[in-house]
Amino acid sequence: MRICVNAGHKYGLVPGAIGQYGTQEAYITKVIASHVKKYLEGKGYEVISVSDKSLAKVCQTSNDARCDYFISIHCNSAENKEARGTETFYYRGSAKGEKLAKTINDEIVKTLRTRDRGIKEGRFYVLKHTNAPAVLVECEFISNLEGEKLLKEKANVFAQCITRGIVKGI
Ligand SMILES: [Zn+2]
Repeated sequence: MRICVNAGHKYGLVPGAIGQYGTQEAYITKVIASHVKKYLEGKGYEVISVSDKSLAKVCQTSNDARCDYFISIHCNSAENKEARGTETFYYRGSAKGEKLAKTINDEIVKTLRTRDRGIKEGRFYVLKHTNAPAVLVECEFISNLEGEKLLKEKANVFAQCITRGIVKGI
């Protein structure tokens, strides 16, 4: 079983969203993704890590490696600084993607007690252009002060939740 883990955006090049304390989304996704890789490998899965400013290259990396699943890790952001919670996207019509999105989302909500925004169909580039069943997890809002704090302090726990969600969902 080969899993592609994509840290959203690209630390050092493309920061993604930036929190009110100055935390870069790309830093958080890098930290979470590196923990997920370590945990999955510890359970015997093969992991392909990719983070690139070119989304085409991200998808190509997963497709060239013939990955069985693709997971993209992000932090959410909104104009409304009160917005909170966890939501996970899958590509329309993918039953495997939908199942995986649910197990990952549920693990985060249950363990970190984030607001459950549910699973949703998404048309993100990386969901559309990867061959494997794909999900994109928006762990929590970095644009909210408490959300940003949680992401910084509990990055490792988000990674544990995502890992458990993957093991249950694939
Ligand atoms: Zn993002």
